[in-house]
Amino acid sequence: MQPQIILLKEGTEASQGRSQIISNINACQAIVDCVRTTLGPRGMDKLMVEAQGKATISNDGATIMKLLDVVHPAAKTLVDIAKSQDAEVGDGTTSVVLLAGEFLKQMKPFIEEGVHSQIIIRSVRKATQMAIQFINEIAVKPKKDDEVELRQLLEKCAATAMSSKLINQQKDFFSKMVVDAVMLLDELLPLNMIGIKKVPGGALEDTQLVAGVAFKKTFSYAGFEMQPKQYTNPKIALLNIELELKAERDNAEVRLESVEEYQKVVDAEWTILYDKLEKLHLSGAKVVLSKLPIGDVATQYFADRDMFCAGRVPDEDLKRTMKACGGSILTTVADLGDSVLGTCQHFEEKQIGGDRFNIFMGCPQAKTCTIIIRGGAEQFMEETERSLHDAIMIVRRATKNDAVVAGGGAIEMELSKHLRDVSRSIAGKEQMLISAIARALEVIPRQLCDNAGFDSTNILNKLRQKHAQGNRWVGVDILNEDVADNMEKCVWEPSLVKINALSAASEATCLILSVDETIKNPKSGEGPAPPGRPGGRRPF
Ligand code: ADP
Ligand code: MG
Repeated sequence: MQPQIILLKEGTEASQGRSQIISNINACQAIVDCVRTTLGPRGMDKLMVEAQGKATISNDGATIMKLLDVVHPAAKTLVDIAKSQDAEVGDGTTSVVLLAGEFLKQMKPFIEEGVHSQIIIRSVRKATQMAIQFINEIAVKPKKDDEVELRQLLEKCAATAMSSKLINQQKDFFSKMVVDAVMLLDELLPLNMIGIKKVPGGALEDTQLVAGVAFKKTFSYAGFEMQPKQYTNPKIALLNIELELKAERDNAEVRLESVEEYQKVVDAEWTILYDKLEKLHLSGAKVVLSKLPIGDVATQYFADRDMFCAGRVPDEDLKRTMKACGGSILTTVADLGDSVLGTCQHFEEKQIGGDRFNIFMGCPQAKTCTIIIRGGAEQFMEETERSLHDAIMIVRRATKNDAVVAGGGAIEMELSKHLRDVSRSIAGKEQMLISAIARALEVIPRQLCDNAGFDSTNILNKLRQKHAQGNRWVGVDILNEDVADNMEKCVWEPSLVKINALSAASEATCLILSVDETIKNPKSGEGPAPPGRPGGRRPF
């Protein structure tokens, strides 16, 4: 008998070889099945309940995948590509997961028959490259210098992104708003300059776009109601200072002999506060915002001098105000000059629904805007926010890179046809593999049909026939259970969404196919104490 060689710790599980790849593929399939039904305008939403009972309703692939808490190591790759698609282009998160899953599914029989993973990986890469090149060739580029045409393009792309969401009934209303919002930004189109606020109550159509910064008023003291609520061209002081009297006993332990000494301590506190307030008043600032609380004395002081103040402003809102109105966030009032004070053309405190909002308009420094979402349930507004986020990302992408393709499965069918045509001219195994990828691309139109309750075989046959006849942009017509030219029907998507989805899906596929061994030891990581620390504690 050969002596056994032990390399790994006791309790280590190792699985390897072909069966390992197959089991990874199966795990990915399970993930894909979770999001499969959310694709497209007739896709269903998912209700997810977390440990604390918090419920989220969403149609967004990335959100669902994030909340799924996947433990399988290979299947986590799919979560990652959904997240990367979300970060990179914002939309197409369900598509990317679906595509990766279908690529793997089509490759499974080849693995089972013993084709080496490296050959498969090479073909997947080649097919992806050809597909991306083809998208770039056929994408339609409208004239960029035509303002009206560009706007229309952006609105249509936004509408397509939103048509699969809960808010699809209001997509015309929202697509205009989203394009307006992005147009208000400057060249770089920074996403964090679009603030999204939610106010419960009202109808979805009461959602409004504010061309400036807006945030909710927090708790305030009595004197607040006496302060003016409107200013034109005010100077704005942004502070990180507490303007509040402290209860003496909370601060420190002070040993006192007489009442007079105690009075001195109290007076000193008041003097410090009044000193700060006076400096603020003398600087000419009309609006005072602070991240920290502003107390009743300060509120009354400002009210007496026709100034406005708001304490406990959330950090991100204060930063956005700073970027928009100029000035800086101060931690001392020692040096209050015009250079550190911001300004805006118009300031107003306004009632929106049940909340009061501080609104700054006509900001000189940066271009910014705020969308105030109205609606019934909290979950509904959250989903609206996610959908608007998708649409905003799409519009940002499309303003920079304005090539579009037709959605609704049209581009996928055309790519499928292209790859199938090309594969015929290739000899060897690659031919089979590339046509398998071509078949995998059909998953998008098929799933769109399945989710809408159409006869997918029938529609796919029609699509194949139309594309073979050279009708490039024919895709699924969701409204009439038929096929239609989706370029004419204005189901447009930026080509970048598709390119990114394809390359991310193919990367994930290659990654999963290239893993042929998993080694897992639940005890690893608990090893002996690090050297040099004798007597280090070890868990038992
Ligand atoms: P993703 O998270 O991948 O964006 P969606 O649920 O938003 O998933 O669905 C996107 C798919 O729905 C795309 O393939 C898009 O082309 C398609 N689609 C969107 N609007 C329409 C429409 N009006 N008709 C047909 N297909 C559409
Ligand atoms: Mg979408």
